[in-house]
Amino acid sequence: MDIIVLQRNATAKDLRHIVKKLEKRGFKANISKGTERTVIGVIGDTSKITEDESNAFGAMQGVENIHRITQPFRLASRDFKPSDTLIRVGKTVIGGKKIQVMAGPCAVENMQTLMNIGREVKKAGASFIRGGAFKPRTSPYSFQGLGEEGMKILAEVREKTGLPVVTEIMDPRDIDVILKYSDVIQIGARNMQNFRLLQEVGEYDKPVLLKRGLSATIKELLMAAEYIMSRGNNKVILCERGIRTFETTTRNTLDLSAVPVLKKLSHLPVIVDPSHGVGIWDLVAPMAKAAIAAGADGLMIEVHTNPEEALSDGEQSLKPANFKTLMKELRLVAKAVGRTI
Ligand code: PEP
Ligand code: MN
Repeated sequence: MDIIVLQRNATAKDLRHIVKKLEKRGFKANISKGTERTVIGVIGDTSKITEDESNAFGAMQGVENIHRITQPFRLASRDFKPSDTLIRVGKTVIGGKKIQVMAGPCAVENMQTLMNIGREVKKAGASFIRGGAFKPRTSPYSFQGLGEEGMKILAEVREKTGLPVVTEIMDPRDIDVILKYSDVIQIGARNMQNFRLLQEVGEYDKPVLLKRGLSATIKELLMAAEYIMSRGNNKVILCERGIRTFETTTRNTLDLSAVPVLKKLSHLPVIVDPSHGVGIWDLVAPMAKAAIAAGADGLMIEVHTNPEEALSDGEQSLKPANFKTLMKELRLVAKAVGRTI
């Protein structure tokens, strides 16, 4: 809260009361009396004012509205840290000139399938293998993932291909197994506001890929990142993966404007998951290209050697040959925006 606009009919007493409250809180008030109304500029470290406090000021007698110039997310904001954050995973850097592509099946199904997919995506130029062992399925009767067994498979594929592993955590009780076998911990869309989980992953020095919630605003996404960072873990990668809208032809509506908005508001790397964004495999490539053109630092793409038989999200998974073609096309788009892939 940095500027307080008073109502036209606010009295001198209202103004005094507000100024007193600000001063009591350690701030100075810069009062500007216009012909129409009075505006108070709040001087001091206003980032310390909580949302609740700010709302309480907004409810005071004589106040029309309040504007916050400093963002409620502090550690994640570009005001706080103007330079881009680079996140290192082994030899790979996320957030630099090179665009990083995380590819693999929705779920880890068995060793052979994941190994084949891993080898294919590596050949095509992906820099991470993705795959869920703990799956957040809408139905309790759908395949829920292989659990620790799946984590071991991921680690084995990393061993053979050299690709670091991105995988989802659903429950703080799984943290040890997730830390043991993964290189980047994914927080899925459904858990973006699972605050206990965010705090848990904030305790470790392990990169976190934070997906935007199904109906989360950009501010809420950044506040979720703040939860992780406020616990000491600054290695947060933001991921736009589509939001719920009235549109039904695509699984979600991929909000690509979130990319430049996030890059402006935050120093954290931003990646895009067009697979969950559109939910239909032949729409993935155009949106992946658009994401890179919009300034994304990376992509998460679902790939399966046999999408028809996939245990989850087969309809949105690319076959290896299509993924390879897409990677070639992405090189041209990356070049056009001064990046490499
Ligand atoms: C996934 O990456 O497989 C996944 C479940 O993603 P989201 O949380 O974005 O739905
Ligand atoms: Mn999926």
